[in-house]
Order: sequence, then C-alpha cells, then structure tokens
Amino acid sequence: MTSERECINRILHYVQNHDRDYLIKGIGDDCAVLNKDGENCLLLTTDTLVEGVHFDMAWHPPYLLGRKCAAVNLSDIAAMGGKPSTCLLSIAFPGLVPAWLDDFISGFTSILNEYDTLLVGGDTVKSRNDLIISVTVTGEGSRKQICYRSGAKPGDLIWVSGSLGNAAAGLELCRRYQFQPDEVPDKWQVLIQAHLDPEPQIDLGRVLASSGFVHAMMDISDGLATDLAHLCQESCVGAEIQQELLPVSKVLENAAMEMNAEALDWMLKGGEDYHLLFVSKASDEQKLRQLISDTFGREIFCLGRIIEGQGVFLCKSGGERQEITYQGYDHFSAQ
Ligand SMILES: [Mg+2]
Repeated sequence: MTSERECINRILHYVQNHDRDYLIKGIGDDCAVLNKDGENCLLLTTDTLVEGVHFDMAWHPPYLLGRKCAAVNLSDIAAMGGKPSTCLLSIAFPGLVPAWLDDFISGFTSILNEYDTLLVGGDTVKSRNDLIISVTVTGEGSRKQICYRSGAKPGDLIWVSGSLGNAAAGLELCRRYQFQPDEVPDKWQVLIQAHLDPEPQIDLGRVLASSGFVHAMMDISDGLATDLAHLCQESCVGAEIQQELLPVSKVLENAAMEMNAEALDWMLKGGEDYHLLFVSKASDEQKLRQLISDTFGREIFCLGRIIEGQGVFLCKSGGERQEITYQGYDHFSAQ
C-alpha cells in the first residue's frame, strides 16, 4: 500500500451503507454524522496512536500522552463544530506498569474534564511489542450548523486558526535533543508544548460553525498541504495559498535557523498542529475577523482562496506557483 488514501479507497470499495436514513455522512470527513432526532446529529470519531509511530516514550511523559490521545479525537469533533460528550479508550500494553497507567489516565481524564466529556468504556489487552492506544469520541451538533469538508466554493477565502508548523518543530527538537520536559530551554517551550500537548479548538469550532460565515471546515492533523487537499477533493475545487500569508511564529523561524531546517516544510507538511482549517465567503472576511476577535480576543489567518479545478498551489512572492497537493504526512509513505 503506497498511501493512506489508497488504503481508505480499498475499504470504501466494500462499504455500502448509503441507503440508511440515519446516516448523514459516513467515511470521508473528520467525523461520521448520524441523525439523532431530526434537529441534532450524533458525531463519531476514532484515532489510534502507536508507539514509535505517533509517540516516543523516550520524551513523551505519560500524563501528556494521555492528554494528547484524547485531544486528537476532540479535535475531530471541533472540526465539525460539535460538542464532545462521551469517550471510549482501548489500550494494548506490552507490559503493565501501574505508575505509568496512573499518570496516563490522569492526563487523559484531565482533558476530558476540561471539555465535559465522559469516559464510558473501552478495552485493555496485552500487546507483544508496542503500546497501542485507540480512542473513540462521540459528540453532538445541530444539524443546520455542522460543518463538512465539502462546502468550499471557488472564490471563498481559506483560513487557519493559528501558527503552522509549531508541532513539527517541537517533534524535531525532541528527536534531536531527547528532551525531558523539565530540561527544555524556555525559548523552545511553546514548540515542545505544541507537539506534546496540543489543544483541541472546541470552543472556536462551535463559534465558527454557528456563525453562518463558515461553510467548510476540518482540523489540521496531517499538515496543511495534505489537509487542504482533502478539503478541496471533498468540495471538488482547488486552492491557491500565498506563502507570505502563512502564519509563522518567531520562535519557529528561530528554531529552523538554529537547526538548519526549512520552516516552510514544517508549516506545509509537518502536521499535528490541530488548528482548524476553514473557508468563508470573501464578503464575510471582516465580520468573521471581528466575531473571533470579540469572542476570543484572538486572530485568525487568511491564507488564500479556493479556485476552480483541482490541486493545492503555493504562490511565492516572486510569482512562482508550485503544486503541493497531498505533500503532508502520510502514514503509509512516511519512513
Ligand atoms: Mg481530522
């Protein structure tokens, strides 16, 4: 198998559930969406994290790993504009260390509590080698307000909710220096934090979805280049983003310089930022900025426009236009 998309397409080939009236959206979005009572929808999402692939025990403290395993699922509920409600947790352990489990569950439930989400079940099994953690989160949202990936139209503006690439830079710092959290120099804290303890954008997602200004949304888990390509594919459109509009933090630029790395690669291909990626009509630009500034006192960042056709293109200030479709993280092609 050469790509995650190929894997999903093979699975889709066997799935025939289009004629169930309770199913509003199946495979292909951040969550599956089921009809609850006509007015409200049930949201379902699941994610699996594998030791050595998604996390490294050498530097990921169990408390923060617990938080992250829940956060990446909560982020998919945020991506639909929903409110999380319940959670299932399954763990395959190579060996059971009670102190590790205490810290992990303490972190896991701390973030669930922050978002009023209940842990209601799961499974614990023995694994031969790696630690594998699988989480399912359910949520709810009003049927009229749920945001899908498929609503983008040519001319729409493309937005992200925060700086790109911080999590990828944090991962690279951990790899190079094998940091323990209390040994991390202050100047890198924000990057390490982005990698170890990402924040799901639940409140922002709900405000965006209920604003009426946003008509397609997803979260950024595999990098802007891949996730924007997913949104475009589901919407049957293309996208053009301007390099000079990509939101970059000063600390990311400094880290790139110090590590002799490409900040742009982290921003486009890095993944795991768990910011929201969304589109609005160009005429709603000011109203949307104002709403988010008034509600949260924060900024959102416009990157470019949705275009007719297909593909995601990066426009550089010199006029060069480069295709970056699906150049982010892919589980099956990543080394
Ligand atoms: Mg997602």
